[in-house]
Amino acid sequence: MKALISIIFGIFLTLTQLLSSNYVILISFDGFRWDYLNRGLTPNIEKFAKNGVRALSLQPSYPSVTFPNHYTIVTGLYPQNHNIISNYIEDPYNNLTFTVRDTNAVRNPRWFLGEAIWETARRNGLITATFFWPGSELRPEYRRANYFVHYDSKFPFKSRIDSVLSWLKLPYNLRPKFITLYFDEPDEVGHDYGPNSAEVNKAIAQCDSLFGYLIEKIQKINLIDSVNIILVSDHGMTEVQKDKIINISEIIKNDSVRIHSYGYMAFLRGNKDSLEKAYSFLKKVERNFKIYRRSEIPKYYRYSQNPLISDFVIIPELGWSIVRSPEDYVYNIKGNHGYLPQWTDMHGIFVAGGPAFKKGLVVGTLRNVDIYPLLCKILRIEPKGNIDGDIERIEFILK
Ligand code: AMP
Ligand code: ZN
Ligand code: ZN
Repeated sequence: MKALISIIFGIFLTLTQLLSSNYVILISFDGFRWDYLNRGLTPNIEKFAKNGVRALSLQPSYPSVTFPNHYTIVTGLYPQNHNIISNYIEDPYNNLTFTVRDTNAVRNPRWFLGEAIWETARRNGLITATFFWPGSELRPEYRRANYFVHYDSKFPFKSRIDSVLSWLKLPYNLRPKFITLYFDEPDEVGHDYGPNSAEVNKAIAQCDSLFGYLIEKIQKINLIDSVNIILVSDHGMTEVQKDKIINISEIIKNDSVRIHSYGYMAFLRGNKDSLEKAYSFLKKVERNFKIYRRSEIPKYYRYSQNPLISDFVIIPELGWSIVRSPEDYVYNIKGNHGYLPQWTDMHGIFVAGGPAFKKGLVVGTLRNVDIYPLLCKILRIEPKGNIDGDIERIEFILK
């Protein structure tokens, strides 16, 4: 009898191992616009997509910038709910600021609400790893992956892949089931030269060959049949021109209104009276932009329910930039993002393949908020409650 029980238990354990034996690698190419895949420069990604799932595009959440969207992808929450409402955040209540270049801020859990997938997975007993991702460096330890690396934009791209491979070569009981991998291109060249430049095309081709290198290496270690790869980007890119500039200081000539301009959006702060006056004036001259009281921001933008969003917000049309002075950074760039997700130029990519995915499936636009529940489903773990993502909108891409 004892022997029988132990055999049954043994079979049960093997089955559980088998059921959870698939790996997931979540890769992001920052600023890889949805249509960069249609330029004939990405043979490796296209070949992989043919054998898996490819979405027309991946719709970002507002604002379409790096930190808010990467953190949305791993939490299933809109930026207004996970609290990373931009790459630069002011907390006027506690007199604190968050910037992506501040190593203390990006490690400080007070900014990052919600639960990232690596935390959910760890809580469920899976080993996880992150080779860069916004929100991956938090203290305390349980909010990070088991293996993580502090962000360093100079870390060579190929070596990032080699590091991920060394994790996949670890003994089974130490090997991570979920891994992230992040590359800061083609965003950078997109800003410097614009989305239609030869430089961006070169970066697209470079991303594709990195992707090919990763696949080749996974094949070499015989894991290709058990690894699911999800390739995404956080947002797209659009051309910005010098004749599409709104100099807000020339419109609001009131020193008691403090303007924080992001280029693709602006926050107004100050005393209530001055703000109301500025609002009424701006409302009359609304052209190529819209001024909102926070409570008036259209609900479907999902950008009003967080007190760190200022009480008055200016949102320009696609490609228009809000500046405060002729020294503003937007005068020196040819491409930008951060605009509303309904502009297709802001859309990123979604390509996925591996044992969990259907083969040869081409689908319409997916939403980045739905990726967290998708990851949970593949990893066979229960997602955190109260998320914005919805598995029902995306699970049809799974087998
Ligand atoms: P954006 O201004 O939204 O285009 O942000 C892109 C920049 O974010 C890139 O230049 C990256 O170097 C930076 N970045 C991406 N991931 C991280 C990270 N985990 N920590 C700090 N900076 C990052
Ligand atoms: Zn980005
Ligand atoms: Zn960027």
